[in-house]
Amino acid sequence: MVKKDYYEILGIAKNASSEEIKKAYRKLAIKYHPDKNPDNKKIAEEKFKEAAEAYEILSNPEKRQRYDQFGHSGVKGSTSGSGGMNMEDIFTNFGDIFADAFGEGFSSFGFGKTTKHQSTIKGSDLRIRVKLTLEEIAKGIEKKVKVKRLKIAHGVRFKNCNICHGSGQRTRITNTILGRMQTTSQCNICYGTGKKIENIPYGANKHGLIKKEELVNIKIPAGLTEGIQLKISGKGNEAPFNGIPGDLIVLIKELPHNQLKREGSNLHYDLYISFPDAILGALKEVPTINGKARIKIDPGTQSGKTLRLKNKGLPHLEGYGYGSLFIHVNVWTPKKINPEQKKFFEKMKENENFLPHPGNFEKSFFDRVREMFS
Ligand SMILES: [Zn+2]
Repeated sequence: MVKKDYYEILGIAKNASSEEIKKAYRKLAIKYHPDKNPDNKKIAEEKFKEAAEAYEILSNPEKRQRYDQFGHSGVKGSTSGSGGMNMEDIFTNFGDIFADAFGEGFSSFGFGKTTKHQSTIKGSDLRIRVKLTLEEIAKGIEKKVKVKRLKIAHGVRFKNCNICHGSGQRTRITNTILGRMQTTSQCNICYGTGKKIENIPYGANKHGLIKKEELVNIKIPAGLTEGIQLKISGKGNEAPFNGIPGDLIVLIKELPHNQLKREGSNLHYDLYISFPDAILGALKEVPTINGKARIKIDPGTQSGKTLRLKNKGLPHLEGYGYGSLFIHVNVWTPKKINPEQKKFFEKMKENENFLPHPGNFEKSFFDRVREMFS
């Protein structure tokens, strides 16, 4: 594609003065500003960039001379970007022109350098610990917690930073042998926000922030584990200069349950049964996370037997379903017995029924453990 003549792009004569070049460019820049051409943004942006490139060359006396002499090949590589500058470059390099035209810069279009280059400050994160009972973890809960946040004090007003005039950037122009050099850096007075506090209300810090206690609603999903962090966006400290508030980081602390032990989404319970119950069998009540369950102890139950109550554990954090509640049966051996009982058991010592004879159907402890986790 043949490159268009720069004078033609700007619609000016070959002997146009620098003032005429500037005026022509400004006119085109306003005409083709993408925000003013929402219906054909792409074409407008191309035209906008084209004009910027032409202006970059023709507004520089040295580059213009080379262009006049050798055409496009004379200034090859001396534009800000091969294949066109991006919009940001254009505003960085020629923002002053727009500032002249609109006083406040291009911000009236929501695109110009006064908005584009402003940094947004994020408030710092706050961290709190929330203690949860196993019951709360099991069903999930909404909690209101008191949080002391830095908030913008009532009555704080901002004005444009008087050092960078609201651009958030400081531009320095130095003359070198190669021509004028422009360097841009973030304004160190307003941290690049372009804003300055006009008044500081009583009690507020120099950024206009004040500590306030607030109740924050926290939704805690079911099945969380100790150490998990929840992030509540925007509930940390507010940021000065109308920045984005930080986040509230909620660290989950699990309170121990007095009867149930947790292991992932499974729960464990140690059940103690009496010697006669182990021999005769019994119905027993065991605690669950949300109430009680009745279980049947078969006659002749061995100590160490594990019963599994499916879906009586905690909800899985990811996916559906629940873990299990494992009941570990322990036979309680009495330490004290009366003479009559002693006589009975002494008689039973040689009784075939009381002799241990674990068969194949009596699983070993290790087999049971393996079964439990499969
Ligand atoms: Zn500033």
